[in-house]
Amino acid sequence: MTQEQPEATNSSEQTKSFPDATFDTLPVRMQQACNNAGWVQLMPVQAKTIPYVLNGKDLMVQSRTGSGKTGAYVLPLLEHLDPSQKGCQALVLVPTRELARQVTTQVELLGKDIGVESAAVYGGVGYGPQRDAFKRGVPIIVGTPGRILDHLLKRSLTLDQLKVLVFDEADRMLSMGFFPDMKEIQKFMPRKRFSVYMFSATFPPRVKSLARLFMHDPDFLSLSSDNILVAETEHHVYTVPGFEKDRILVRIIEMDNPEGALIFCNTRDKVHYVATVLKRFGYDADELSSDLSQHQRELVMNRIQTGHLRFLVATDVAERGIDIPDLPYVIQYEPPDDAEVYVHRAGRTGRAGAAGTVVTLVADLEKLTMGKIARKFGIPIQDKLPPSEEDVARVVAQRLTGRLEAKARERDNLKVERMQRFIPLANELMESNEGQELVAMVLDDIYQRWLHIPLEAEQTPPESEPQQQQKRSSIKRPPRKRSSSTRRRR
Ligand code: AMP
Repeated sequence: MTQEQPEATNSSEQTKSFPDATFDTLPVRMQQACNNAGWVQLMPVQAKTIPYVLNGKDLMVQSRTGSGKTGAYVLPLLEHLDPSQKGCQALVLVPTRELARQVTTQVELLGKDIGVESAAVYGGVGYGPQRDAFKRGVPIIVGTPGRILDHLLKRSLTLDQLKVLVFDEADRMLSMGFFPDMKEIQKFMPRKRFSVYMFSATFPPRVKSLARLFMHDPDFLSLSSDNILVAETEHHVYTVPGFEKDRILVRIIEMDNPEGALIFCNTRDKVHYVATVLKRFGYDADELSSDLSQHQRELVMNRIQTGHLRFLVATDVAERGIDIPDLPYVIQYEPPDDAEVYVHRAGRTGRAGAAGTVVTLVADLEKLTMGKIARKFGIPIQDKLPPSEEDVARVVAQRLTGRLEAKARERDNLKVERMQRFIPLANELMESNEGQELVAMVLDDIYQRWLHIPLEAEQTPPESEPQQQQKRSSIKRPPRKRSSSTRRRR
């Protein structure tokens, strides 16, 4: 990870109530924590944030991943929390289990000898060890929303002692996928005042206004320089065998799960091919090329612009003149022959304060072209390894388990009782290969239905599959609220 240098701040938005902290003026316990980690000075985000946490003042912090933001809240928590008090005093909500683990690892590193413990709490694993941690009264709980909500509903976790609430990657935590859970979790928070800190690489206006629903008169700090739009666009390059591009494209989409994307190809034939592959896989995809009449083009553009279409595969006719708000994701199925075109394609994302990702698939023969483009514009390329089928299976399993657990929470007692009659069948199916395939088929159907068809279809009463199929092409989706973070990490 890169370490962030002190950066220019955006003075028009910046509010500031406290002078910066320095290593020498830190309380002894925090200095000891830094020593534990071998940190000899504070990073800018830490110098600015620590005084807020120590003083209990709510704060939104715009800061990049890798800037030291975890330390910015973990360090002062070690000082601020009362080691003699049992129960969750700080709740850190994060979008993924990997981030939950990263945060608890940092608490362990900084907090050893200090006696402040943390526990990572996420779905898809047993409840027992998590319950044990709550019983021990672990003060810092770092968790994903679904499983935290599970524990709150089951009363295995209470928030009566809460002093500090942190949203890490706030833009994701407040995105359409998580926001309903966050509002549910909020109902379990104590009435007495506790302080709230939100960290995010970007704070588009929508995130800022949703954030305020959880905060009390927050200040706003921006540690990103004026060129955030450029800096916040990540450029991922995957070198892949040409004949595997289509499969790897699907894997990348499955892994990153963008809410919407523009996929560029160099020729009309390729556009048609890629759009067909995506549709056959079950994605909501369409194509745009000069083959279409002006009217047809306008219709397709309108669908992607209004969020009624998830993937638009296009030649460079789309590259000028498409104005898609907050497009999080651009994929280049192949690098363009003309270097300038890369900049135009990449310019479709990372605008208006939103973080963006440009993914480029490069076959061996195209490496030279990509290298020239990167050098010409000084593009900070991140070389990525293509995800394997196993990587995808792991992430999909995690995602599906989370959704299934959420569904299970909605069941009333009668449904839970009714469901019991299938437990012997479930056990029996798991004992034979044929049975396992049937279970896999059901899971696949559920996954496709949840993740590849319009959201509101999930909320309508269950229908037979043929009905679903018929509807699939005609349902109008409400405009997608595109969240700006990608998953980089997770
Ligand atoms: P984060 O943005 O929290 O993921 O942190 C990025 C990396 O910076 C992590 O590997 C931290 O261990 C490291 N780091 C955080 N604060 C400091 C510091 N004050 N001095 C040196 N390294 C740090």
